[in-house]
Amino acid sequence: MAIDSSSNDGVVAPVSPRTAAHTLAAVSSVPGLEMLGAAGAQLEWLRGDRVVVLDGGLGTHLADRGNDVSDSLWSARILRDNPDEVRAAHEDFFRAGAEVASTCSYQVTFDGLAQVGGSREETEKLLRASVRLAHEAAEAVPEVHEVSVGEGLSSETESPRLVAASIGPYGAGPGQGTEYDGAYGLTAAELAAWHRPRLEILADTDANFLLAETIPSILEVEALTSEFARFEKPAILSITVADGKLRDGSSLEDVAAIVRGSRLAGLGINCCTTADALTALRTLTPLNGLAMAVYPNSGESWDRVARQWAGNQNELSLVGSVSELIEAGARMIGGCCRVTPQHIAAIAAQLR
Ligand SMILES: [Zn+2]
Repeated sequence: MAIDSSSNDGVVAPVSPRTAAHTLAAVSSVPGLEMLGAAGAQLEWLRGDRVVVLDGGLGTHLADRGNDVSDSLWSARILRDNPDEVRAAHEDFFRAGAEVASTCSYQVTFDGLAQVGGSREETEKLLRASVRLAHEAAEAVPEVHEVSVGEGLSSETESPRLVAASIGPYGAGPGQGTEYDGAYGLTAAELAAWHRPRLEILADTDANFLLAETIPSILEVEALTSEFARFEKPAILSITVADGKLRDGSSLEDVAAIVRGSRLAGLGINCCTTADALTALRTLTPLNGLAMAVYPNSGESWDRVARQWAGNQNELSLVGSVSELIEAGARMIGGCCRVTPQHIAAIAAQLR
């Protein structure tokens, strides 16, 4: 964090301005990291009192940038047809203050590509490209940048630039549209087998960690937790919740029982309202001993029949809840669907 500020006019301090509310008690050990040994060093920033800023909704930001993400491949279509846009969208989030880019691989599945005539080789190529584009965006936006710390004053801050290889749930693949209820009709073993080929490829990239996102089903939590243990690369598993439960109705205590003592480096809560995320965070933080990531959506919900977002944005609820989320144990904060670079900038401004 020590930065030579002498060469920069108007720079007042090389330290991050942060209020006491945002200073966490140092965590002496994160079980997942201890077990990961050298590989855990990639996630060293999860230790101590730093709150990491995640990005926002990549797919919805690609749409905001004028890309058509309305067909069955969603953002995977842009990854395939217009990779420059994916890189640019990642850069937008890094510039806004995000420290982690979640790759455009959420919807890249062997089944999904096969449905539109894509080969297994093409799927693998796209998965690897998604990681490369995020790294290229990271390199394009300097790690040291100026932030405003008040009227006419600025400071420099140094941020990590990390790439999370995004893994969508079965519901975002062949289980079309069931990602919010997890009604898959498959066993944990079947789900593990479905996830495995993609995990093997992403674990073989230079992504800093694997990130399973929007996981709605307890069987899928079980499947992914055991699959992740096969790889040296650190992994975070993020669930989606509603009304104090996993989307499939399972209790959060059951989720905690599966992930506690596993090789996971962190547990996340994403793509739900901020209120639901906060409730789940308060339940899960004391139960599992893992670093907690929280990235709610804008509060709108996806109408899978009309294929559009419905309801009201409650962006203030996320941006305005940063202190509460931290107090409830969040160590990584960002946004999911419909959370824009502007929202991420508003979150980052409270932390740096
Ligand atoms: Zn989302």
